[in-house]
Amino acid sequence: MSQFNVAVFLGDDASPEVMKPTVALLERMQLPIDFVYPTVGSVALESEGSRFPEASKNQVDRADATFFGSTSGDSTEALFYLRWGKQTFANVRPCLWRPGFRSPLANPDGIDFTIVRENLEDLYLGLEGDLEDLSALNLYSRHARANVKDLGPGRYAIKAITEAGSERVIRFAFELARKREKQRKVTLTSKYNMLAKADGYFRDIGFEVAKDYPDIAFETFIVDDFLCRMISRPEALDVVVMPNLYGDIMSDGAAGLIGGLGLAPSGCYGDAYAYFESAHGTAPDIQGQNIINPTATLLSACMMLDYLGLGDQAKRIDQGISQLYAALQWIPKDQGGTASTEQIFKALEDIIMTH
Ligand code: ATP
Repeated sequence: MSQFNVAVFLGDDASPEVMKPTVALLERMQLPIDFVYPTVGSVALESEGSRFPEASKNQVDRADATFFGSTSGDSTEALFYLRWGKQTFANVRPCLWRPGFRSPLANPDGIDFTIVRENLEDLYLGLEGDLEDLSALNLYSRHARANVKDLGPGRYAIKAITEAGSERVIRFAFELARKREKQRKVTLTSKYNMLAKADGYFRDIGFEVAKDYPDIAFETFIVDDFLCRMISRPEALDVVVMPNLYGDIMSDGAAGLIGGLGLAPSGCYGDAYAYFESAHGTAPDIQGQNIINPTATLLSACMMLDYLGLGDQAKRIDQGISQLYAALQWIPKDQGGTASTEQIFKALEDIIMTH
């Protein structure tokens, strides 16, 4: 079996409390993976004069994938490189309820959908500035609803929806729907009524791509309607694709449906690279308390193992997590239990190593 190389960023605040033991678990499972730890942030600045030195970038480039701990700033440069540098355009956020997860819904059974969020464009390109700079464009004469000149001082942010960027992420969603073999359905959502030019374009491209997938059902909803549907009938969803900002917001909402951010994994895929991190942030408010829920990080590691072609090993961890929650014995604090982070890792390792 070939040996893989994974770059690990432990992240900030409470993040290392789940990243370190997850990597330790993978090491104890004796997987064919070598882990490297690129230096980054203030440590790298002090020793190498840069927050994301060339040597660290090379380690990321040489790795087959990156396992990324949430950052509150120190590894932001590395994160931007993983996203825009490596063109990881599809952010995949699975939302699967398992017995033992503390969902706020009366009947969460059957929630099993995946959000595919466009990861590079929309409002996240950083194209911001002063409103007065837009005056020269004379957008009012081109059917804008207000004249920039009348607005007074203010700022703008550009939302860019490109043909290539939309097509590749929508295609990714269709391929995923085929691979999942669940409902074989793609749902596309955006604000295509109010933002007919940009979000309408995203939807138009969706209809075009759908023609190549006659075996996959395709439906579209305006994003506010979609949110209501996601909450009231989440079991009707399979694969959902949407532009960046909506995906950012909806996927946290989706995590809330199954029991919260502590349960939500995430993977960002490009044509030639992928990195994996929990959907949650660094949880600074619970740092050092040994109560951070490791499930999101562990499931992100499972997504990484799948990506590397180690699906059987991913299944061992995934099934171990289901078993752990179903037993109702080692439930973390955010899910209404009293188990510490360390106890959960110990219990999970016991399950995995005895199977
Ligand atoms: P960021 O800006 O990096 O997203 P944040 O503080 O806004 O940081 P999170 O770090 O995701 O957002 O935390 C939001 C809330 O969810 C916090 O109260 C945090 O403690 C809680 N939380 C996040 N992840 C977990 C987890 N794995 N286990 C338990 N609680 C968590």
